[in-house]
Amino acid sequence: MAHSKYPHIFAPLQVGHHLLKNRIIMGSMHSGLEDVPNAAERLSAYFVERVRGGVGMIITGGITPHASGGKGAKLSELSEVPMHRAVTDAVHAADPQVKICMQILHSGSIANVDEPVGPSPVQSRIARQAPVELDADGIEEQIAAFANCAALAKEAGYDGVEVIGSAGYLISTFLVEKTNQRNDEWGGSWENRMRFAIEVVRRVRIAIGPDMILIFRIAAMDMLQGGLAWDEVVSLAKALEAEGVDAISTHFCWHESQVPTIATMVPRAAFAGVTGRLRKEVSVPLITSNRINMPDIAEAVLARGDADLVSMARPMLADPELVNKAFEDRVNEINTCIGCNQACLDHTFTGQTVSCLVNARACRETEIDIRPTKTAKRIAVVGAGPAGLAFATIAAERGHHVTLFDASSAIGGQFNLARKIPGKEEFDETLRYFGRMIEVHNVDLRLNTRVTADALIAAGYDEVVVATGITPRSLKIDGIDHAKAVSYFDVITGKAVVGQKVAIIGAGGIGFDVAELITHAGVSAALDINIFAKEWGIDFENHPRGGVTGVEPVVASNGREVFLLQRKASTVGKGLGKTTGWAHRITLQRRGVHMLAGVEYVAIDDAGLHIRLNGTPRLLDVDTVIICAGQEPARQLYDALLATGQSTHLIGGAYEASELDAKRAIKQATELAVVV
Ligand code: FAD
Ligand code: NAP
Ligand code: SF4
Repeated sequence: MAHSKYPHIFAPLQVGHHLLKNRIIMGSMHSGLEDVPNAAERLSAYFVERVRGGVGMIITGGITPHASGGKGAKLSELSEVPMHRAVTDAVHAADPQVKICMQILHSGSIANVDEPVGPSPVQSRIARQAPVELDADGIEEQIAAFANCAALAKEAGYDGVEVIGSAGYLISTFLVEKTNQRNDEWGGSWENRMRFAIEVVRRVRIAIGPDMILIFRIAAMDMLQGGLAWDEVVSLAKALEAEGVDAISTHFCWHESQVPTIATMVPRAAFAGVTGRLRKEVSVPLITSNRINMPDIAEAVLARGDADLVSMARPMLADPELVNKAFEDRVNEINTCIGCNQACLDHTFTGQTVSCLVNARACRETEIDIRPTKTAKRIAVVGAGPAGLAFATIAAERGHHVTLFDASSAIGGQFNLARKIPGKEEFDETLRYFGRMIEVHNVDLRLNTRVTADALIAAGYDEVVVATGITPRSLKIDGIDHAKAVSYFDVITGKAVVGQKVAIIGAGGIGFDVAELITHAGVSAALDINIFAKEWGIDFENHPRGGVTGVEPVVASNGREVFLLQRKASTVGKGLGKTTGWAHRITLQRRGVHMLAGVEYVAIDDAGLHIRLNGTPRLLDVDTVIICAGQEPARQLYDALLATGQSTHLIGGAYEASELDAKRAIKQATELAVVV
């Protein structure tokens, strides 16, 4: 019988010779777990948790078929099979209905190897060097490596393989004119540029036989100036179908493209319509992805006929039980991926093992064990920001009696400010999740209650956890008490009036967010696909090459003139998220925000903000100066409690305010909650 709320998600689907129990795939995502010493154990635990959580199929992180394909996990020799076999056995033992496919990924010209290879020596914008051009023998060696890798995947017990032909990796650089400048049979005409992809698929199919699932990941809209034209995408999809692929997965980026495609400022399911167009051209199942983070969005995409399957990658980090919660009508208990990239993609690109900002257990399933406590304690938690919320709900889940206090009238702490920034609307989901967890785990929530050390001591708690957050740093600049100097807190909450000409002191995460808020005009692009398309120069309707060629971005601004300032001489915004900072910088630059580094603050007066810029005096004749100069830990309560001998713990911003972010706050809270 069809599921009453999500009939499309829970309709089984035949893919090749395999029946999938539902339409949600855990999409391919690099975790870094393949490279740790106990890889088999940790990967198995990570995948099994998602299998038990209800996914229909898993696509592993990319595995390279050849040493030139990247420094990460490789499968090119029999000796590398056992680690994979342990994983597939664990997955199949957990649920024989769930399929697991291995992604074969050769990074080509952007591989982190000494001598990357490609069709032509064209350097990617994000690579350190140009690739070495493959000769005919080299091309044959790479195709044979794909086939060999697929054969070993079969040996390892996978149900199928996914060949990635997008994102600027090896196969995609053969497809696109600007990276394939060959004039032999592998370049020039479209038929020749397509040959490498088709030959790889043909040889992989021979290697795995007819029974295993074969998926090809195609760049349906690569967001690249001079990228693939729509007729090329269609032609490739048809050729792949003719070669016997069982499904086509649509992808929407090259890593070097300058359009955000998965960050939180991207509207939910923004690219699914492109998959929908391609679905009309072929008859094999189509998989769509990108910013589909909740079951309702997935259901709508499937119901519209935009895709046959929905791939969710990061949402499976955030909540391994997402599918079961949808099935059991517990959607309000889903810990939603907020698209921040802070603990997943940013970790991948800085060589760290992946995790998740909202779920610190992700990829640490063997280390962080949330098991019932043997000794239930009475615990007071002071502060219902991300740190206090994570601690309180996990400790209560374990069976402790938790009382959670906050001085304000709502849970969330600084997340209540973050959620007001255009493009950060997803932060609401985290507050909804914690609000529900407070109910589910019976946390005794006391809002509008500023607690003191005396009150806590009098109540006789076994443990007190102090998560009182931060206080904004106050500055010693002449004229800091002038009426035009205001705090970011008052600006975001609407208490301060902001003039037409503004200086922002401090260009950290909050300085950037405040600049976004005060220059923004109209509806947030994250909530409207047409505004998003306009801001980033995407033409979804006419689909020029790459979806972007020749389309000028048009960013609306409310006309304020803004100076974003820092003392450091480094590029303004350098410290922002590795995979998202560039997008914030570009947006503000397009709104005309002046970003100044090497600034010394001299005084604030009626004339404006007096600075020295690299030693030279300058007056910024602004009418508002917003202070975003970092934060200090709010530790008075902790210090007072320590003096009494009360068993007390300190977490989140109150523990460490410099470079603190919610990722660190939630991680620290989680680690404490499982041992207290
Ligand atoms: P807080 O969130 O500061 O919460 C502390 C709580 O304690 C408050 O609710 C306060 O009312 C309460 N409290 C204090 N004293 C008492 C008392 N005596 N009694 C009762 N209650 C008390 N981080 C990211 O990782 N990514 C982002 O994109 C991001 N964006 C941000 C955007 C903005 C505009 C802001 C302001 C912050 C942003 N942050 C972001 C930072 C993030 O919100 C903080 O790192 C996080 O909130 C710290 O959590 P916390 O629980 O330690 O403290
Ligand atoms: P921050 O990132 O540490 O930035 C503080 C800024 O203030 C810096 O530009 C710093 O640069 C400046 N500053 C520090 N001391 C100063 C002083 N005495 N006088 C003048 N300027 C001073 O802190 P934040 O912007 O307040 O953010 C707080 C936390 O929230 C951070 O951990 C941040 O990561 C997190 N957050 C993250 C995001 C995100 O998108 N990931 C968004 C918002 C906030 P100079 O020292 O060079 O002047
Ligand atoms: Fe999603 Fe952020 Fe978690 Fe990555 S770190 S999975 S983007 S919530």
